[in-house]
Amino acid sequence: MTIARIVADKSLTNLTLAGKAAARYGLTIERLTKDELVAEITALPLEERYRRAKRTLFFTTRKGPFLSTCRCPSGADYRCCGYHTIQSVSGCPFDCSYCILQHYIGNNPFISIFVNRETIETEMREHLVKHNHIRVGTGELADSLALDDLLDESGFFLSMIARNGWEKRVTFEFKTKSDRVDTLIATHQRHPAVDCVAGFTLTLDRFHATDEIGTAPVLARLHAAARCAAAGVRVAFHFDPLVMQEQFLDDYRLLAAQALDAVPHEKIAWISLGGLRHTVSMTDLIRRRWPASTLTLGEMFPSADDHKLRPFAPLRARFYRAIAETIRKHIPEPPLYLCMEKEFMWERVGGLKWNHSRSI
Ligand code: SF4
Repeated sequence: MTIARIVADKSLTNLTLAGKAAARYGLTIERLTKDELVAEITALPLEERYRRAKRTLFFTTRKGPFLSTCRCPSGADYRCCGYHTIQSVSGCPFDCSYCILQHYIGNNPFISIFVNRETIETEMREHLVKHNHIRVGTGELADSLALDDLLDESGFFLSMIARNGWEKRVTFEFKTKSDRVDTLIATHQRHPAVDCVAGFTLTLDRFHATDEIGTAPVLARLHAAARCAAAGVRVAFHFDPLVMQEQFLDDYRLLAAQALDAVPHEKIAWISLGGLRHTVSMTDLIRRRWPASTLTLGEMFPSADDHKLRPFAPLRARFYRAIAETIRKHIPEPPLYLCMEKEFMWERVGGLKWNHSRSI
């Protein structure tokens, strides 16, 4: 995917990052308000909107806070893994069939880059007054490393942590489906004491081709993980979303074994497992936009808590248990957790030692 348009919010006075992006892509900066840009793009046919959303960078300021807890919905009793997120970017040049960003095409049909990221330092400081440690990352509404060579988010966050002496109090994850780790590795070499983690989301090759357009092939992600580990950067693996159709279970076990062979185990910060889950409207969207995708072919059942569809609980437990078992053959007590699953599922899987108390 190539960036084809650079737009800066009309009210923006700091054009440093937008200027850097314009120079990088040989483009000029356009000045529009968010409303003008939204109106222009949403007037286009639907598929063209998605295309533009992946190729337009919109530089603006964020009005609300950057830092929040991860998005396990309140009221639902999902067991929390203690993660926090920073939304410094919202949008992604990659295009995944199951990505929630597709739902935001109406009011965010571009990649928003919030240039007032300095305020994150204040938010982190306030958080650390009340808490001893935070485990945090930028990969909720963006791919953390897809644009890192342009935005230097790794440089920004790691130097912020080092400047404040937060090396033992902040664990910062950059979660990605790319293999773009050069900037992160170079930054880590400047700040080796900062606890940063390169988190790689892993999928089966078959889904990379059909459902994760623009991302790096799985082997390239594993190669990037190995490079990070060799450079001293801790690594995380996220098997999420697991497509829980019986015929794929052995492939996932193989993938887990492959991942654990790729990096020294002492360099693995954590591993997460999460089944494919999405709303009913997302099912329609996947079928419409991604006719070749097989993701929605398995049976899914709605949850009363978050109205998302998930595979039947016994099938989820079977997948999680089988993959956890493979992981335990490599690491007897892995730092393993489930994403957006309730206590009963953690119990059914058994042997999950994840303790998030250090993180909140
Ligand atoms: S890499 Fe992540 S943020 Fe980007 S399109 Fe895929 S799921 Fe969405």
